[in-house]
Amino acid sequence: MRLVLLGPPGAGKGTLAAFLNKELNIPHVSTGDILREEMKNNTPLGQEVKKYVESGGLVPDEVVIKLIENKFSSDSAIDKGYMLDGFPRTEVQAKNLDAILNNLNKQVDYAVYLNASLPVVIERLTGRRICRNCSAIFHMKNNPPKEEGICNECGGEVYQRPDDNEETIKTRMDVYLENTKPVIDYYEAQEKLKKVDADKDSQEVQENLMKIFNGGR
Ligand SMILES: [Zn+2]
Repeated sequence: MRLVLLGPPGAGKGTLAAFLNKELNIPHVSTGDILREEMKNNTPLGQEVKKYVESGGLVPDEVVIKLIENKFSSDSAIDKGYMLDGFPRTEVQAKNLDAILNNLNKQVDYAVYLNASLPVVIERLTGRRICRNCSAIFHMKNNPPKEEGICNECGGEVYQRPDDNEETIKTRMDVYLENTKPVIDYYEAQEKLKKVDADKDSQEVQENLMKIFNGGR
């Protein structure tokens, strides 16, 4: 199955991706990971990406598209399917992506939209804590570290991301919705959109999505 994952920060994409990876055996292709990998390997495109990142700017669409094209044409794991995360975020990106995927004959089957409301996203993200060392994720209410400030997995320091505060979350959500609404409409017009209520807990979201894939509405 070939999927695009859409949803604002805090909608639960990471958790869903881990589930789908196990359930459907398809790789999670995160554009954030691709960018980091290219920078780490110091490829020509990676060096270009680094310039933008270090100056605090956004990596231009054409660079990200090029990286996705490289990844999708060279990584054989993607032949059996994929879930693309972090891209497209705008309608122009969605159209460019379609052009590449058409060429590679790896067209998107479904766009899965995790529809989460602002209060739920705020609750999830303001409570989120992350291990500096191993990136394990905790939640102060639902899943706190056993010892305050210390990671259960590795003993590393558990911290709160500075942008996980209410004001910044509101802004991130606004920006996300404004850009992504046209992307959602774009996939809906192609009859590829599968929308799930992401205010529900992760297990219910997973069950509902599998029902949809298995021939529900
Ligand atoms: Zn840790």
